[in-house]
Amino acid sequence: MRTDQAEGTRVFLASRNPKKLLEMRRILLAYVPDLLVLGLDDVAPYEEPAETEPSFAGNALVKARAAVAATGLPSVADDSGLCVDALNGMPGVLSARWAGRAKDDGANNALLLEQLADVPEDRRGAHFECAVAFVHPTDDGGTDEQVVHGRMPGRVIREMRGSGGFGYDVLFVADQENGDERTSAELSVSEKDAISHRGKALREIAPVVAHLLTGR
Ligand code: IMP
Repeated sequence: MRTDQAEGTRVFLASRNPKKLLEMRRILLAYVPDLLVLGLDDVAPYEEPAETEPSFAGNALVKARAAVAATGLPSVADDSGLCVDALNGMPGVLSARWAGRAKDDGANNALLLEQLADVPEDRRGAHFECAVAFVHPTDDGGTDEQVVHGRMPGRVIREMRGSGGFGYDVLFVADQENGDERTSAELSVSEKDAISHRGKALREIAPVVAHLLTGR
C-alpha cells in the first residue's frame, strides 16, 4: 500500500547503458509525469546478476528481481538484442558480446557484416526484440512480476550508416509502411522510440507501472 506520495512514485531502472536509460526515462515520464526515475548511479552499488538466461524475458526478470532485492524499490529492467534470420535468431541474448566479452559495438557490427557477407538481399531479415520486466514489492512482503515484449522487424544492410542510437542501429533498416530506408541510427530519437522494440514494450508496461504506483 502506498503510504507516501514521493516514496510511492519512485521507480528504479536497472540499467548501466546511458542511452537505454535515457530512452526508458523519456518513455516512462511521458506516461507518468510525476514519476521519479532512479538509475544505477542513484542507488548504493550492488552485485548485478550475470545475464546467463537463454531468453530475453529470463534475463530481464533476473535483473529486475535483483534490483528489488537490493533497493526495495519497484524496479524495471530490460533485456534486448538483435535476432537475425540467416543466423537462426542469433546473436539474440548474446547481442552485446557477440564479438567477445568486451561489449564492443564496432567489433560486433564488423563480425555481423562478415557473417552475412554471402547472404543475399531476400534473406537478410532480422528483428530487434526486447523484454521488459517490472517487479515490485507487495503488501504481504513478497513481490509481484510482469513481463512484456516488443519487436521491431527489419533487415541487416551491407554497410554501416548513421551516428545516432547504439549497438547494431547502424546496420539495421526497420520495415516501415512509408518505405523509409534510413537505418535506426539515422532516425531521430522520437522516430526510433515510436517504432522500436523497447519503445513498444515500455509503452505497454508504463500504464501498469503508473497504475500500481499512483493508483491512477
Ligand atoms: P542488453 O544490454 O543485455 O540488453 O544488450 C543489448 C544489446 O543488444 C546491445 O548491446 C546491442 O548490441 C543490442 N541492442 C539492443 N537494443 C538495440 C537497439 O535499439 N539498437 C541497437 N542495438 C541494440
